[in-house]
Amino acid sequence: MSSASKACVIGAGPNGLAAAIVLAQAGRQVDVFEAESIAGGAARTMELTLPGFLHDFGSAVHPMAASSPFFSSLPLKDYGLEWIHSPAPLAHPLDDGTAVILERDLNRAKSCLGADGKAWSDLMQPFVEHWHEFAPEVLRPLPAIPKHPWLMARFGMSALLSAKTIAGRFQSDRTRALFAGFAAHSFLGLHEPLSGALGMMMAIPAHAVGWPIARRGSQSIADALCAHLASLGGKVITSSRVESLDSLSGYAVILCDVTPRQLVVIAGRRLSDRYRRQLEKFRYGPGVFKVDYALSEPIPWKARDCLRAATVHLGGSFEEIAASEAATRAGQHASKPFVLLAQPSLFDPTRAPAGKHTVWAYCHVPNGSKVDVLANIEQQIERFAPGFRETVLARRVFSPADLESMDANLVGGDVGGGVLDLRQFLFRPTWRHYATSIRNLFICSASTPPGGSVHGMCGYHAARMALTRTG
Ligand SMILES: Cc1cc2nc3c(=O)[nH]c(=O)nc-3n(C[C@H](O)[C@H](O)[C@H](O)COP(=O)(O)OP(=O)(O)OC[C@H]3O[C@@H](n4cnc5c(N)ncnc54)[C@H](O)[C@@H]3O)c2cc1C
Repeated sequence: MSSASKACVIGAGPNGLAAAIVLAQAGRQVDVFEAESIAGGAARTMELTLPGFLHDFGSAVHPMAASSPFFSSLPLKDYGLEWIHSPAPLAHPLDDGTAVILERDLNRAKSCLGADGKAWSDLMQPFVEHWHEFAPEVLRPLPAIPKHPWLMARFGMSALLSAKTIAGRFQSDRTRALFAGFAAHSFLGLHEPLSGALGMMMAIPAHAVGWPIARRGSQSIADALCAHLASLGGKVITSSRVESLDSLSGYAVILCDVTPRQLVVIAGRRLSDRYRRQLEKFRYGPGVFKVDYALSEPIPWKARDCLRAATVHLGGSFEEIAASEAATRAGQHASKPFVLLAQPSLFDPTRAPAGKHTVWAYCHVPNGSKVDVLANIEQQIERFAPGFRETVLARRVFSPADLESMDANLVGGDVGGGVLDLRQFLFRPTWRHYATSIRNLFICSASTPPGGSVHGMCGYHAARMALTRTG
């Protein structure tokens, strides 16, 4: 194998592994260097509390992985990846002891959302029906010439709207609260442009492909990618942190599944001053404060319907969720934070010993926050599930710094690889997207388009660009 066909990838997260597979498919000999002892980055699963309890360290619910045009082209099922769908994708409990349940089937959702059913369906339907054409359009850098202009034009009409404006189409506080939960995934204030489109980008796949979890945890996604890479001759070398490009010789192409701050350190003075300055201006988003629980029994939800959904949004009304996200954006800690909660063991018995359960929960906090918000998270869970604390056998808390110590890409606890506001949506991390000021060096992490989530599309597009530009 000549050195001209040797490539390496720094980082074995979903994007690094996707990039490695594209390079290997093109006949390159690929080595992936991973700092941690297990590949997968923020898609790893570990016994974080008690023996026999498997917890997702990072990603837990996978609408984007299930939608990913690249992952869908790979035989990941043959390597053990299996999606599990809870009966409903999402539950959103409210103070009256009921919950808004989002049904996966759009027609059922339409009838369950009552007076707002038609407005919800009108908003989602064109994109749900054409999701398989729409997903590749939005999971790539923009602006680009769309293959489905009418669909993109229709989405573009909502794209700049805030979540507040879109929620204004609904009559019921219940539907407005439901939409707020989707939009809060964006880490933006719910009055900010793009927060509405990002909310839609969470809600549309809930109908189109569901919000599945992976059997045995998100590690199954990483393991399947590694196994497929191995079948193409690629190697993943774990416990190998790359500190500098100086340690990598003989590679014709280098792709970096790292964020801009790390790229500046790794590539150092080799980067042009101008490009380095652009990377230094990259802005990270809020962090998260996460808790993993081992439970003696399922969560005692007041609204028993919550047991039908793998994901539960805790935050109450639109106004409360908007206040929580506004506080985080302003560098403050919400006393009633919006909490994202997953209860995978209800639907996947491999996650916990028989009869016991695992729960994953987090809320947004300012980047790098050192404040302990465990009590605030648990108050929110207790609010909708009194008696929750009595079911806790063990808990493991992750501050933003704890998360970053286990995955260097989680800078200050930012799980999205950088703010996804309008500027960093278009120029991510710079106008060059995956290219850098060095001809054979590319960046391929969630800090490039289309951004965070497990979909591998950043790695896919970066590797395609690398192949085109380096021959
Ligand atoms: C708590 C949490 C919850 C999340 N929930 C979801 C969810 O439910 N659904 C979803 O789709 N997404 C979720 N995400 C986001 C998703 O996990 C990420 O967007 C995705 O993993 C990004 O992939 P990546 O390959 O860009 O980076 P990462 O997954 O972060 O992988 C980067 C890899 O590079 C390695 N690395 C970094 N620096 C070096 C170096 N110098 N040398 C060698 N290796 C290095 C790291 O160790 C890591 O393995 C969540 C993330 C977190 C942390």
